[in-house]
Amino acid sequence: MENQAKALPAMIRAIDGAIRANGDNVTQLDQAIGDGDHVFNLQRGIEALLPLCDELAGSAWHAAFKTIGMTVMSTIGGASGSLYATLFLGMAKSLQGQDSSFLSFAEAFRSGVEAVKARGKADVGEKTMLDVLVPVSRVLLDGAASSAPIDEVLREACAAADAGVETTRDMLATKGRASFLGERARGHLDPGAKTAQLMICAVCGVLLSP
Ligand code: ADP
Ligand code: MG
Repeated sequence: MENQAKALPAMIRAIDGAIRANGDNVTQLDQAIGDGDHVFNLQRGIEALLPLCDELAGSAWHAAFKTIGMTVMSTIGGASGSLYATLFLGMAKSLQGQDSSFLSFAEAFRSGVEAVKARGKADVGEKTMLDVLVPVSRVLLDGAASSAPIDEVLREACAAADAGVETTRDMLATKGRASFLGERARGHLDPGAKTAQLMICAVCGVLLSP
């Protein structure tokens, strides 16, 4: 990866497109087990980031992630706002003073995900975005530490995200609004896991395209 975050605008636009294209579907999921505002929350953050694209592209990665974290913190409402802010600020902190190798990014993502776990007092198996973030983080780290080609690791990461969303279907929720529903949450995918998967696969798609 280049030292400057030149790839970020394309990533943000790809995320915007993926959330738009799946907005109705995700809103239905959040109406089933949440309060229906998840897509709206994320879109507020994305809309605040789009005008910052040029500035972000000219920044070092750690500085760009810090700007994203602060922007997301002040614009995305709901549980997901503070959790995504935590993810990006955690990545920013981890990347500071590091090179821009794939391993540094994989380690930064792991640090960000660990910070999300701590912030939300949650882990895998509780029907949240962590059911996607944690397996993806594992694939990235294992891949970065091996000699596997990066494209292969990125495809594997997207596949892990797909599988992670599916695992939430039959789970009971123990964190967030869905936890108030008890057994009634079973049979529905978690909306936050679904949008995490959409965003991760969108970013992998940008990195994979020639
Ligand atoms: P809210 O539930 O406050 O309305 P959103 O609708 O934006 O917030 O986001 C809901 C999503 O946030 C859930 O689908 C779930 O994936 C995620 N979430 C909620 N609580 C936690 C938590 N403690 N840890 C990780 N993710 C969580
Ligand atoms: Mg909500």
